[in-house]
Parts: sequence; C-alpha cells; structure tokens
Amino acid sequence: MRSAVVVGAGIGGLAVAGALARTGWQVTLLEREERIRPGRAALLLWPNGVRAMSALGLGAGLDAIATPMRPAGLRRPDGQWLRQTTAGGADGATPYVVHREDLHDALVAGLGERIDIRPGVTVRTIRADEYRPAVSDGTTTWEADLVVAADGVRSAVRQRLVPASQPVSGGYAAWRAVIPWYRTPELPAGTPAAGETLSVGHRFIHASLGERRSAGASSRGGIYWMATVPGAARPEPPDAQLALLRRWFAGWHEPIGQLLAVTDPEDLVQETVSELRPMPDSFVFPGGGGGYALLGDAAHALVDHLGQGACLALEDAATLQALVRDVSPGPALVSALQTYQRDRRPRVARLARQAHRLASVLQGRGSRLGTRARGVALGTIAPRLFESAAAGASDWHPQGDLTS
Ligand SMILES: Cc1cc2nc3c(=O)[nH]c(=O)nc-3n(C[C@H](O)[C@H](O)[C@H](O)COP(=O)(O)OP(=O)(O)OC[C@H]3O[C@@H](n4cnc5c(N)ncnc54)[C@H](O)[C@@H]3O)c2cc1C
Repeated sequence: MRSAVVVGAGIGGLAVAGALARTGWQVTLLEREERIRPGRAALLLWPNGVRAMSALGLGAGLDAIATPMRPAGLRRPDGQWLRQTTAGGADGATPYVVHREDLHDALVAGLGERIDIRPGVTVRTIRADEYRPAVSDGTTTWEADLVVAADGVRSAVRQRLVPASQPVSGGYAAWRAVIPWYRTPELPAGTPAAGETLSVGHRFIHASLGERRSAGASSRGGIYWMATVPGAARPEPPDAQLALLRRWFAGWHEPIGQLLAVTDPEDLVQETVSELRPMPDSFVFPGGGGGYALLGDAAHALVDHLGQGACLALEDAATLQALVRDVSPGPALVSALQTYQRDRRPRVARLARQAHRLASVLQGRGSRLGTRARGVALGTIAPRLFESAAAGASDWHPQGDLTS
C-alpha cells in the first residue's frame, strides 16, 4: 500500500492527511503538540479556499459553519470611505468567515478512521538521500513513499532541505479575537456586519460570525476582529496588550471601540507574523520513488496582508491530492510531485509579490515616502491594490488532472 507521513496537524496537515487517506494512502500524522488542537479566533476563507475545501470533499461541512463576510468596504479611521463595496462584493471575491474551532472540527471529521495519528511527536531530522524518505524525532523513524512537510513557518523538515529559507519578521504585530456570541454588543443600527479600516501602519478588520448556529448546525457564532500595528510582538500580558490596543485604536469609528471594549483578555490571541525569505526554489525533493513535498506555511509563509495563508495551504492539499490520487510509488509519483512544484510555486510567488506591494503601502515597507505621502497613497493605491490582489488570489480553480 502507498504510504505517506504528514508532519504537522495545522490546517494544511489535517487537510492533506484526510485527503490522502480518502484516496487510499496509508497515512501517519505526526504532531508535536500533545493534542491535535484548533488555532484560536477565526479566519477568512476566500473563494479559492472555499473551492479547495470542496475539491477536498469538505465543502458540505463548510456550508454548515461559514458565514459570508459581506464587507462594507475600506474606511479611514474617521469613517470616511476609501472604497465602498457594492452588493455581492466589488470584485466578485467575497470571503467567508469561519471560526477556527469550527474549521478544525470539519477537518478532523474529514480524517476518517484509518489514519495513524501520533500527537506529542516533534520531528527533528529527516533522511534525505536516495532511499525512501523518512523523518525522525530522535527516537523513532517513520519511513514512507511520500513525506508531506506541513509543519509551519519554522518547519524542521524544510530547514533540513532548504536551510537558506528562514522565517523573517513581517514587521508588524497582529492580534485576533472572537467575542463569543453571548457577549456580542448591541451595535448601532446600520453598522455593517463586516468591514476594514486602515491608517498608515494600523489596520482593523471585523466580521460577524452571526448568532450561534445561524450559519448552520455547528457554527459557534460571535464577532471576529483582527488588528495590526507596526513593530514587534508585544511582551506584556494579555490585559496590558488589550489596554494598548484600546489606546492605539481610540477615536477610530465605531464599532471598533465598542468591540475592543467588550473583548476580554482571554479572547485575545497575539500572532507572530513571519514570512519565508527567500521562498524555497522548490517545494519538492524526490527520493526513493517518491519524496518530500512542502505544503502551506512550511513552503511559502507570506506577510499576511492578503489573508490567504490558510487558503493557500488548502489549495496545496487539494492539488497534491489530485496529483497523487491514482499514482504508484516510482517514476509516476516523482513526476506527480514535479507537477505539484510547477503548479504551486509560480502562483504563490505571484501572491508574495502582491503581498509585498500591499506591505509597502500599508506599512511603508521599502517605501521612501514620508507619512503624509503614505497617507495619500493609502487613499489612492491601497483600494485598487486590495481589489486586484483579492481578485487574483481568489481566481483559482482545482484541476482534476494537472498531469495531462
Ligand atoms: C494575524 C493573522 C491573520 C491571518 N488571517 C488569515 C485569514 O483570514 N485567512 C487565511 O487564509 N489565512 C490567514 N492567516 C494565515 C494562516 O493562519 C496560516 O497561513 C495557516 O494557518 C498556515 O497553516 P499550516 O497548516 O501551513 O501551518 P501551521 O498552522 O503553522 O501548522 C503547523 C503544525 O505543525 C506542527 N509542528 C510544527 N513543527 C513540528 C515538528 N517539528 N514536528 C511535528 N509537528 C510540528 C505545529 O504544532 C502545527 O500544528 C493569518 C495569519 C496571521 C498571522
């Protein structure tokens, strides 16, 4: 039987492990945490991410948990519109918002019964030679036809295969929170259910997850928000971080102040934002009639202004599944992996360029403009950049057979 080891049980690892198992692969899933746990807060799933979920056979589960975001548009802190979204989305790229725990439940349900799940295993080394691929935690070695490295931006597998690619700070700190449905505030009539507000360096996004179970049988509901500010991650405890956020975003239009006021410190998740530099030239490393494939943030963590990292991990999983579904170890599997590389790398590299362009406007990264000129650029360039980046990123369709 064809065998695969998947390293990492984040969104990408869970998606690809289930997909391979459903197509007849014998799968071992290794995760360093003692429990396979969901990430916290919520995520935007763009149309490409939704299509990837469907291609993975998980579309029905998503229907029950995802809420259309229907963003009202982009605003300045004083509430002035930079761009107003017309009904159905200005660019035909309306995202869905989904609670991370709901998404996790859907991905775990998709694992089925046959996967050998090993929590509490930290992969430290790999065997990269002409023999079958193998990974080890220093005590036990797992060998397989295919090793999928889905172990995130600090991937131990990638660090062995592509040591030159290293995580680099994205230059900003990010927070996410879901205010649970039973603590959501009464917002003034006419407050958009979702929106995004920008100043030079600072950004705030909110989206309603609706009432509990409003989207479907298992949605947790609530209100999601995300905020970014320039600089490094904050070392203070969560209550002090929350006080800082309330100060930084004081005076921004409602409902931002209202949402921060009802957020509890335990709702708050500070995220480290890193990108991989340089992006690996290759996402696959053949060996022994199969090889290693990098997937998700392990292959291509981006500065996350596009909100696409999880969607791209799902695209990777759907593409890999389609390519290896019917192949056996040997030249056919090696060729399928090379097709994965040819398909995925150019797309992700294009999105990375767009993310950098957005970073130069939103954060002034690599920009020689002063604050005032950046403020003007924000009003003129950012809406167009967002629109074309969202449309470009969303315009992905799964392919049944990429090898033909
Ligand atoms: C503030 C912020 C907002 C974001 N918003 C969005 C959004 O709205 N939409 C979107 O699509 N994306 C978004 N993203 C990006 C998205 O969260 C990530 O790209 C995505 O979660 C990456 O998934 P992954 O499975 O590749 O990696 P990870 O989620 O990092 O999972 C890696 C897994 O591997 C495990 N692991 C690590 N090392 C080892 C090891 N040595 N051995 C065994 N296991 C190991 C880890 O414990 C973890 O479970 C956002 C990111 C940030 C920072």
